[in-house]
Amino acid sequence: MTKISPSLRATSLSQHNASVVFANIFYNGPITQREISRISGLSFTTTAAIVSRLKKRGIIERSIESSTNGGRPAALYRCNPSYRYVMGIEAQHDKLYLIVSDLAGHVLSRSTTPFDKKIGKDGFLDLLLQAVKNLIDSFKGQSTRFLGVGIGVGGLVDPKDGSVSILSHLPDWGNLSLKSIVEGEFHLKVFVQNNSDAAALGELRYGLGRGKRNFLFINVKDGIGMGIVLNGELYMGTSGTAGEFGHITVDDHGPVCTCGNVGCLETLTSVPALVQNAKKSITQGVTSMIKEIAGGDLNAITFPVLLEAAKQEDKLAYKLFTDVGRYLGEGIVSLVNLLNPELIIIGGDFVQAGDLILEPINDVLRRQALELPRKAVEVVFSKLGESASALGSVVPLVEEFVASPLSK
Ligand SMILES: [Zn+2]
Repeated sequence: MTKISPSLRATSLSQHNASVVFANIFYNGPITQREISRISGLSFTTTAAIVSRLKKRGIIERSIESSTNGGRPAALYRCNPSYRYVMGIEAQHDKLYLIVSDLAGHVLSRSTTPFDKKIGKDGFLDLLLQAVKNLIDSFKGQSTRFLGVGIGVGGLVDPKDGSVSILSHLPDWGNLSLKSIVEGEFHLKVFVQNNSDAAALGELRYGLGRGKRNFLFINVKDGIGMGIVLNGELYMGTSGTAGEFGHITVDDHGPVCTCGNVGCLETLTSVPALVQNAKKSITQGVTSMIKEIAGGDLNAITFPVLLEAAKQEDKLAYKLFTDVGRYLGEGIVSLVNLLNPELIIIGGDFVQAGDLILEPINDVLRRQALELPRKAVEVVFSKLGESASALGSVVPLVEEFVASPLSK
C-alpha cells in the first residue's frame, strides 16, 4: 500500500472537499452554506472556508436573492457562469458548427463553416483549425478563459485517446487522433466523442433530458445515430461504440448501406433514403408536385422540397414521410421493448417534419410495442436545435472543471 504523507493527504482532502462544495453550488445552486453543509456532511466551518476561497477566485458569486427559510436571511451562492468559457464543435457531413458557451451552457457565440464533401482529410483539418482560431480570436483578451474544446463527430471514436476510426463523411480519414491534432495546435484540453453521444449529453444537462434517468437521443441526418442515457449516465458500451441504431438490419433484401451490409435501418429511414424514395416514385410515374417544386429537376429534390410538398398536401410527399416514420417507429419499438426508456428525443433534420413523422411513429408504437414499456415512454423532438451536439461535446470538460475547480 502506498504511504500517503500527511501534507499530500491534506492537499487531496482539501481538493476533494472543494470539489464537493463546488459541485453542490454548480448543480444545486443558488444554495446557502448551511444547506451545502447539510447535503455534503462537511462541517459548517469547512464549508464556509471553501465558499470563501471559491468566492475570492471569482468561481462563485452571491445570488441576488437570499434564503429566508427559517428566520434571518442567508446568502445564496451560485456558480459564476462566465468564470470560464468552453468551445463546442460538431463536425457535420457538410459543415462545421461551432459554439462558445459559458459554464451554464449559455451560447455566447456561434459560427458555421460549410465545406464540400470532397474536401478530404487535409482540407477538413485546415478548415477546422482555422475555424477554432477565428472563434478564439473573436474573444479578444479573454483567451485564457477557455477551458478547452469539445468535438462531436459522426463516426466511431475511441474515448480514451480521441482517435476517430471512421469519419463518416471523410473516407480518407484513416485512424487519426483528432484530439492530439487540435490539442497540439491550441494547447487547450480537447475532448472528442461521437456526435450523437454528445447530443445525448447536451439533452441531459441543458435540454429535455434534464432530471431524466433513462432516455435515448436519436439523431436523424444523413444517417441515424443514437446516444443512450441509462441511470442518469451516458452508456457507451465496451468499446465506446454503443448506439449504432442506424445499422440494425431491418430488411434482408433492402438497399446496400455505407457500412457494407444490406437493409440497415438508415437505408430505409434517413434524409438520403427519403430523397431517394421520392426520385424513384416520380421516375416510376407517380403523380406529384414534388418535381415542380424542385424546378422540374429530379436532382434538385431535397429534404426542404419534400417538406414544402407535404405542406401543400402532396399525396406522394405525405406517403414518403409516413413510410420513413413507420420504419423509424419499428426500430423504436425494439428500443422501447429492449431498454424501457422514459423518453425518446428525436433530433436532427427530422425535427422539421413534426407530426408527419411523429404520427406514424406513435401509431407503430401503439400497435407493436409491449404495453408496459409503451405506457412509460414519450417520443418528443429536441428543442436544442442545431446546438445539441456542440453543447453536449463540452459537458465532459465542464464536469472535469467542477471536479477540481481550484486547479484551473
Ligand atoms: Zn449499415
